[in-house]
Amino acid sequence: MNIILLGPPGAGKGTQARILEEGWGMIQLSTGDMLRAARTSGTAMGQKVAAIMDAGELVTDEIVIGLIEEKLEGDHGGGFIFDGFPRTLAQADALGDLLERHGTTLDAVVEMQVDDAALVARITARSTCGSCGEVYNDNTKPIPADGKCSNCGGTEFKRRADDNEESLRTRLMEYYKKTSPLIGYYYAKGQLRSVDGLGEIDAVAGEIAGVLG
Ligand code: AMP
Repeated sequence: MNIILLGPPGAGKGTQARILEEGWGMIQLSTGDMLRAARTSGTAMGQKVAAIMDAGELVTDEIVIGLIEEKLEGDHGGGFIFDGFPRTLAQADALGDLLERHGTTLDAVVEMQVDDAALVARITARSTCGSCGEVYNDNTKPIPADGKCSNCGGTEFKRRADDNEESLRTRLMEYYKKTSPLIGYYYAKGQLRSVDGLGEIDAVAGEIAGVLG
């Protein structure tokens, strides 16, 4: 099964993708994670996109489509969870073509609905484990008192450079201008399933399982 998790920054796409990976054997493909890895490893592409990402703007369709294309060449496991991709109509069209070329299809698009006030609160409180990427939140899921990641025991935690209010405003505007039209696009194709992304992590996971099942 191949699915897209669609929603604004901070909607919980990454958290839910990890749950689906563990429970369903699916493979998370996060273009944001791929771009951050390219930055840290100092590739030419990583250097080129760093300033764009920090400002909260979208990198070019060509770059992210190329990243996804590479991953589709590999193991398809229990299917893919596209997290943070597609973000534009051009990317959505390209994904449809790529899947077709690999003899597979998109099964569903899960739209995670959340309001903007909740997003700001979530994002400014967010951190991740530097080793395994487990996501924490100062208010709802704090880093354990012993300072060790509950998933892997790692002791280093990071905050994203673009998780600040100014960059978030741009990221939200980019979402409403360029990504939210995908809601209508997939609705028209009969593939859209919407869930309330505001609940507890397990409750949201249950809702997602319900709409996919
Ligand atoms: P994310 O981790 O999904 O919030 O992505 C972090 C940043 O990476 C975004 O603000 C964009 O600058 C860039 N990015 C990630 N995915 C895409 C995409 N599909 N299209 C364009 N830019 C992207």
